[in-house]
Amino acid sequence: MSHSPLSALISVEQALERLLAEAQAAAIVENESVSLALADGRVLAQDVIAGLDLPPWPNSAMDGYALRLADWQGQPLPVSQRVVAGTAPEALQPGTCARIFTGAPVPEGADTVEMQENTTLTADGQVVFNEPMKAGQNIRPQGQETQLGDCVLAAGTRLGPVELGLAASLGLSQLNVRRRMRVAVLSTGDELVEPGQPLGLGQIYNSNRQVLISWLQRLSCEVVDGGILPDDLAQTRAALGALNQVDLILSTGGVSVGEADFLGIALREAGEISLWKLAIKPGKPLTFGQFRGVPVMGLPGNPASTLVTFGLLARPYILRRLGVQQVQPLGFSLPAGFTWTKPGKRREYLRAQVQEGRVVLYPNQSSGVLLSAAWADGFAEVLEHTTLSEGDCVRFIPLSELLI
Ligand code: AMP
Ligand code: MG
Repeated sequence: MSHSPLSALISVEQALERLLAEAQAAAIVENESVSLALADGRVLAQDVIAGLDLPPWPNSAMDGYALRLADWQGQPLPVSQRVVAGTAPEALQPGTCARIFTGAPVPEGADTVEMQENTTLTADGQVVFNEPMKAGQNIRPQGQETQLGDCVLAAGTRLGPVELGLAASLGLSQLNVRRRMRVAVLSTGDELVEPGQPLGLGQIYNSNRQVLISWLQRLSCEVVDGGILPDDLAQTRAALGALNQVDLILSTGGVSVGEADFLGIALREAGEISLWKLAIKPGKPLTFGQFRGVPVMGLPGNPASTLVTFGLLARPYILRRLGVQQVQPLGFSLPAGFTWTKPGKRREYLRAQVQEGRVVLYPNQSSGVLLSAAWADGFAEVLEHTTLSEGDCVRFIPLSELLI
């Protein structure tokens, strides 16, 4: 193990900057075309350019009557046609109005729509307009939303319901997206047992594996489950040797300082690996390197540490490899509902809820307590070398920003 980097703590920003540069250098470049139904969560590989105007023609924003305002001097107008959504109207006959419904095309020659609530019908079916009108009112002009040739979604956009709806509104049934990333998940530790098995004295159930598998699936990754690696060099070597065709090896545990780090040893034999000491809590030790050319990230094993380091470092790294530019979570400044009297060397990500507009902490912030994150709505970020009084502003990062 190389101990030289241990002398200095790396800030969260420095670590992220290095990881994002590594991600950029190992960017996934292969693309595939997928139907909209299968594209949720994927990353757009190519700009989406509008192939038509939206709306494609002027349409009515109201149920009512379409007229040419210059034809109206206060007199009732006869109804010359009925235009419902989905039909193509004829040009408006001069001196008349058209019955029209929301979303229907405005007939050529009409420049105004009056909502039906502001009209009355005469006994012979003519329309009385009761209010003053303005030309153009209640008409959604052609191209109001977007116009032919506009870039509507940029390459690198992560697709969700809104983006997919937009693509559908432009008539696209397929999108060109980055291929999925294949990620191997390894859990290390002699103490680990998979759920469903009996638990012996000294053993604990493997929870990180499930956290990472679920989260990676949300990131549209293909997960290769590498199982549990015992704390044994030969078995670690063998397990690594069996991994092929992956884009990333993600492990948890075995990176604590002073521990026999078999994964690190095995990785170093066939690649390069360095141990970073991060100014982050929970977290701190993180390994990053390569094994036979495949990037490897080793996260700390304590469940809350795995959560924080995956969310703040591994997730942005993975998204950047897929070409996403905006990889940082949104955060909000909120008044602290707690005090922080002891300034720390490491930046704290405290599991917190927002209660009545204030950030309130889970009472047990131990890195071993995953329940803290189940209780929490997000992380309160307390910067290094900082104290806080109640009411001071603290950055709150919603978990919903990270768990997608
Ligand atoms: P390590 O980094 O291997 O020393 O692990 C730190 C702590 O996290 C120890 O208490 C481990 O038992 C625990 N731990 C490591 N891996 C896992 C895992 N996959 N699931 C649950 N706890 C873990
Ligand atoms: Mg361990």
